[in-house]
Amino acid sequence: MAPNMLKDWERLAGTISFRTDAFIDGAFVKSASERTFASLSPIDGRHLADIACCDEEDVNRAVNSARRAFEDGRWSARAPVERKKTLQNLARLIRKNANELALTETLDMGKPIADSTAIDIPAVANCFDWYAEAIDKVYDEIAPTAQSALALIAREPLGVVAAVVPWNFPLLMAAWKLAPALATGNSVILKPSERSSLSALHLAELAIEAGIPAGVFNVLPGLGSQTGRALGLHMDVDGLFFTGSTAVGKAFMEYSARSNLKKLGLELGGKSPNIILASYRDTKHAARTSAGSAFFNQGEMCTCPSRLIVENSIHDEVVETLVEVARDFAPGNPLDPKTTMGALVDEHHATGVLEFVESAKDEGADIATGGTRVRTETGGCYVQPTVFDNVKNHMKIARQEIFGPMLSVIPVENVEEAVQVANDTCYGLASAVWTDDLTTAHNVSKRIRAGMVYVNCYDCDDMSVPFGGYKQSGFGRDKSLHALEKYTELKTTWINIS
Ligand code: NAD
Repeated sequence: MAPNMLKDWERLAGTISFRTDAFIDGAFVKSASERTFASLSPIDGRHLADIACCDEEDVNRAVNSARRAFEDGRWSARAPVERKKTLQNLARLIRKNANELALTETLDMGKPIADSTAIDIPAVANCFDWYAEAIDKVYDEIAPTAQSALALIAREPLGVVAAVVPWNFPLLMAAWKLAPALATGNSVILKPSERSSLSALHLAELAIEAGIPAGVFNVLPGLGSQTGRALGLHMDVDGLFFTGSTAVGKAFMEYSARSNLKKLGLELGGKSPNIILASYRDTKHAARTSAGSAFFNQGEMCTCPSRLIVENSIHDEVVETLVEVARDFAPGNPLDPKTTMGALVDEHHATGVLEFVESAKDEGADIATGGTRVRTETGGCYVQPTVFDNVKNHMKIARQEIFGPMLSVIPVENVEEAVQVANDTCYGLASAVWTDDLTTAHNVSKRIRAGMVYVNCYDCDDMSVPFGGYKQSGFGRDKSLHALEKYTELKTTWINIS
């Protein structure tokens, strides 16, 4: 059971210890250079740990170990039912260590403990269970050829796979890649974000206990420009699966082209449109849900519905409700189970987010609420939930990903203009439309160029549905059985039986 009092979490935070070395070939080891980087908590600036800073030499060691493990079949050749049992062990251990893992996420990147205990860690365990359960139930194919041949179409693991992930859901974004990659028999190297590496190192400890063999799962903490880059350019990494910004996603395409043309999956940024139409029966409900989704996780969400496109006739009621909800999201101590909005990930990010307020003012948007830094006495990185009103879609706040608790209201005349504004973006990750008119719901959801369209809801989720984007939000999908396609090659074996 998770503690439900601030003082209990503070006591636990005072005693928790962290793994800080890299995890290579089944053992925790210092980086070859013995260099480290500091991890500070955005809650109050406290020093959490000095973590191994891996470079090219460590990447080579991890790739060699992963390759050996893959080739000798210690994991890749195991029956799916055996891999399933091991991954189920891992899911069980994650649940057993849920409090420590949740606390680590909260201390490391500032999200409310209520979210890391109720959402992040259960979702991580569920993800490992889901792919474990799936893997001994997927079949290969036989092609409908002439009688003279038997053509087998089989899926085989890629080999050595790297996963490079961001900090907003540190363990969950990793799990979305690790679970299907491991279930399909690959050897995996995880590079967590330098802003949130600690839970990944704890996961490595649990992986050994669960029975994942040495070399099959490695964790390399380090900087993107060193560890991430070295993985991207490595000649013996078969596939690289990335979640992060569009700019770094483009860098991975270059790395792949300059090295071995490794397969890529890119889950990138978003600037998601959320259309509330007058034809929806309950304007307040739509506005409340939309604000809740925009401010959840401090707005540090790739799917954040940051462009709220609203018909003029209901504009005032929507803005009034957004302002009310913003009050409920007043930033608080992330270790307090009552807190709904925590700290932004670090000082640099908080400063960048606040720069958008200046830009909004310069470009003539109104600030309906928020826009300032708060709780400065704590030494942490807290920004008020902010609603920009009367925003035009060409403004910087409507075009660039803010990745903070900021929402832009864009008034429109009618459905036609709403769809045009929704699609006027380089991104295409999530989107939503609120209407009770069935025809409008179908038409709008068909016309929006995005990987996910929610109708009369936002951010609804299940492991069974694919997650990913159109346009510069990337390609490939996490979650669902479709993710298995990313981590496997298709092989045709044509047998002449004439
Ligand atoms: P980021 O792109 O800065 O970093 C992501 C990862 O890439 C980190 O591990 C980082 O160390 C590494 N990296 C950074 N620069 C690199 C380089 N030059 N070469 C190789 N690796 C490098 O992103 P972030 O700030 O950690 O995360 C926020 C971004 O992630 C947002 O754009 C958000 O939309 C996106 N995101 C997308 C999804 C999705 O599923 N589409 C989910 C979560 C977050």
